[in-house]
Amino acid sequence: MKVGVLGAGQLGRMLAIAAYPLGHQVAFTANSKDEPAALLGKTFISGNKQDAITQLTNTSEVITYESENIDVAIVKEISKKTPVYPGEKSLFITQHRGREKAIFDQLGIPCAPYQIVNSLAELRTAVEKIGLPAILKTATEGYDGKGQFVIRSNDQIEKSWQNMDGVEAILEGFINFKRELSLIAVRGIDDSHKYYPLVENTHHNGILRLTIAPAESISAKVQKQAEHYMQTLLDEMDHVGILTIELFETTNGLVVNEMAPRVHNSGHWSIEGARTSQFENHVRAITGSPLGETTCLQQYCAMINIIGKHGPIDKALELGNTHLHLYGKKERKGRKLGHITITANTLNELKTTLSALEAFMP
Ligand code: ADP
Ligand code: MG
Repeated sequence: MKVGVLGAGQLGRMLAIAAYPLGHQVAFTANSKDEPAALLGKTFISGNKQDAITQLTNTSEVITYESENIDVAIVKEISKKTPVYPGEKSLFITQHRGREKAIFDQLGIPCAPYQIVNSLAELRTAVEKIGLPAILKTATEGYDGKGQFVIRSNDQIEKSWQNMDGVEAILEGFINFKRELSLIAVRGIDDSHKYYPLVENTHHNGILRLTIAPAESISAKVQKQAEHYMQTLLDEMDHVGILTIELFETTNGLVVNEMAPRVHNSGHWSIEGARTSQFENHVRAITGSPLGETTCLQQYCAMINIIGKHGPIDKALELGNTHLHLYGKKERKGRKLGHITITANTLNELKTTLSALEAFMP
């Protein structure tokens, strides 16, 4: 099929790499020809964004996107002509933290207490209700910890509101978590579901640095619980494609943090680590193909992001049980330039390679 992707970043690039063996063609919209996916398929460069989208729609049989920060009206318009997966409902909910929390509440999925705030006065009232510490986040468009402020004492309230720059925000109670996990799942057009194992995520300066797959010591009960939350979300949104939920593991069980209607950085390990990668399963789902198995190929797998600088990449390849993925991006502080996957049959082997990598990675 002719698959169109709105956007041409690394997620679009890895979607294309997965789509070609299945016989599909992939096209993109981009702001410039230098974006990571632009070399991998026909790319409509937006001098005028609307023109690029129209051209993509005219040449595609199905459309998907690599970011939830796109205008729902655009997707509505495209859908009149070409199916877009995940659909409007998934996009509308997941692009706003308040709407995400509301659906978690509606479905009985535990999440942090929260209040939407639109002014300093509302923030003060919200702090009284929720208590401190709490996190103030922009309601939309946040990623990699951007647009967030932890409020620890009353004298930080005013400054944190100024940081929001007048945009709608959400105040969330601070969750004391043991570790951060994520669950990736895929739902097909025919309502079939597949779930990857829960993975453990470590962030540096708000940016994902390391994913361990599967997460250590997850009981079957906890995996089932996370899958149950996921299933209710997939079904409620009539979601087609990959959906990711980020969770906190606490002494009182799982608390869901946020979700993304797309392939996710914490699922990159699945390219080498699972029977079917998240990218392939997303493509299978949106093109109406049967979904692939999501079980692990090795006992242990880890994914480390290359952030800001490439460093001595060849040293990583010398280690033997590593795989390198570079996105073709220029070095810049805090930018995700690529990732390295480690596969191993024992935890010891995984940790040895991990420490070797961490010794020289920037
Ligand atoms: P982003 O969209 O930037 O990924 P998140 O909501 O995932 O935003 O927040 C980024 C990180 O901040 C999380 O991975 C977690 O470490 C921390 N965090 C976010 N919300 C909370 C919370 N309510 N309690 C404790 N830590 C949080
Ligand atoms: Mg997050």
